[in-house]
Amino acid sequence: MSEHVDVLIVGAGLSGIGAAHHLQAAFPRRRYVILEARDAIGGTWDLFRYPGVRSDSDMQTLGYRFRPWTAAKAIADGPSILRYVRDTATEAGIDSRVRYGHRVTRAAWSSADARWTVEATHGAETVTLTCSFLLVCSGYYRYDHGYRPPFPGIENFRGQVIHPQQWPDDLDYRGKRVVVIGSGATAVTLVPAMAETAGHVTMLQRSPTYIISLPTEDPIDARLRKLVGARRAYPLTRWKNVLVTTLIYQLSQRRPQMMRNWIRGMTIRQLPAGYDVDTHFKPVYGPWDQRLCLVPDGDLFRAIREQRASVATGRIATFTEHGVRLESGDELDADIVVTATGLQLLALGGIQLAVDGQDVSLPETMAYKGMMLSGVPNFAFTVGYTNASWTLKADLVSEYVCRLLRFMDTRGYDQCVPVNDDPRVTRQPLMDFAAGYVLRSINDFPKAGSRAPWRLGMSYLNDVVKLRHGRIEDGAMRFSRRAEAAGPGLGADGLTETAPPARPAGRLLTRLTSAQ
Ligand SMILES: Cc1cc2nc3c(=O)[nH]c(=O)nc-3n(C[C@H](O)[C@H](O)[C@H](O)COP(=O)(O)OP(=O)(O)OC[C@H]3O[C@@H](n4cnc5c(N)ncnc54)[C@H](O)[C@@H]3O)c2cc1C
Repeated sequence: MSEHVDVLIVGAGLSGIGAAHHLQAAFPRRRYVILEARDAIGGTWDLFRYPGVRSDSDMQTLGYRFRPWTAAKAIADGPSILRYVRDTATEAGIDSRVRYGHRVTRAAWSSADARWTVEATHGAETVTLTCSFLLVCSGYYRYDHGYRPPFPGIENFRGQVIHPQQWPDDLDYRGKRVVVIGSGATAVTLVPAMAETAGHVTMLQRSPTYIISLPTEDPIDARLRKLVGARRAYPLTRWKNVLVTTLIYQLSQRRPQMMRNWIRGMTIRQLPAGYDVDTHFKPVYGPWDQRLCLVPDGDLFRAIREQRASVATGRIATFTEHGVRLESGDELDADIVVTATGLQLLALGGIQLAVDGQDVSLPETMAYKGMMLSGVPNFAFTVGYTNASWTLKADLVSEYVCRLLRFMDTRGYDQCVPVNDDPRVTRQPLMDFAAGYVLRSINDFPKAGSRAPWRLGMSYLNDVVKLRHGRIEDGAMRFSRRAEAAGPGLGADGLTETAPPARPAGRLLTRLTSAQ
């Protein structure tokens, strides 16, 4: 017989460790395990090892709500973030619940048994566990490789080509000419970091990005820490940062021209006199149509001022033996080319879900509160905000799951499943975000709906109200008891969905989703 746990968490990154912390604090006696594909805790912060790797949001909001980030730096380096996640796991004994080298491939729900059967590959073996609730914290991208568009003539290039996701430990770039292709968070991090020892670094971008400089140490937080101490300052700075980022996001949506001018003014002040700002730092899209890039203490601009780095804007015509030729005819010589061209998105860590014998097609499901799936019982996933720190949402998802489990406990329910039978709800892309990496893969992801609770909120403040304090019984979430599964139709309270135990494969899912 397979081992059974109450909750099975997939992934031991920032979200999985946070989820475990919430879960064991709320239910100290509940059995849970974390299945982790890799051999380490930390996810993103363990995988990415390129020079200068750091957060691009403040640690007061990227840190957990339950564990103050007490270091002075608000923009932290990757190793410090990794240490923070690992310390969180060790201090709470979560590390002993992690089973490393277990890649979850399939999870099948049985309504008759009210449990998931989860399959994971572990070396050459397939390991099977069952669980009552499945919480997927697998991040949002492939770990085995990033995205690299086909570059013409790349085979002719005599230098090294590196992708930031597979950074070689021994890469020596001292004194070398480096071209970094890209203009996202990774490129703007890499360029000043490599420019410290490289001969010269050129950031080659197809089109410009909005880049804002932020002090590594937040002066308001520094004052608060002196006044009330680091631990008490943490929630205050956290709320201050939530409000400031919400304001910037809202102004970007409502007053884009004003925000363009504001960012442009700041950019010009940091660049040398006469710099061609329009070519290299004037994006065609509005602020926050794509993620804003942050640079700590203006390090990118300083590298440009000191002529250790430069920006080239244009399309690549071809790689040559010695570097890259642009469509404009300009040539960039390089010893090393870094393709900071992004991530390859992957929904639910590539896990195939099935409900009552029928495989779930993710694009046919609809995300409930941005964390559960229509027609998929006792299941939640964590995907953070695109316009604010990931952990803000991750904490809320975990809190909501704990509230949901508590609600089911007190009412004696075994199964919960979000169902959309509101004909006014229309299907929309899950992420309304124009970034290339999102547009490339969005069709493989679940849909969002046009109305609550199916609309994907990108507002932390709104989610605090809905996920932390909102009603669990909202009409869309249906509950049932295993014993009731013998009778068809809705339960006496009008909310209790019941399902006959011997239903042929897939009928429950078909019935629950057919109303959408
Ligand atoms: C370079 C970089 C910088 C970033 N900086 C920021 C930032 O400053 N602020 C911010 O808010 N966000 C940032 N992000 C987004 C970032 O991914 C999140 O902040 C956060 O680390 C995600 O945590 P997670 O645990 O949800 O996912 P991950 O960190 O991706 O961890 C997922 C874990 O699940 C495991 N896993 C996946 N699939 C399976 C499977 N099928 N079976 C078993 N295990 C599986 C993985 O091995 C991994 O350990 C950044 C992302 C990158 C790539």
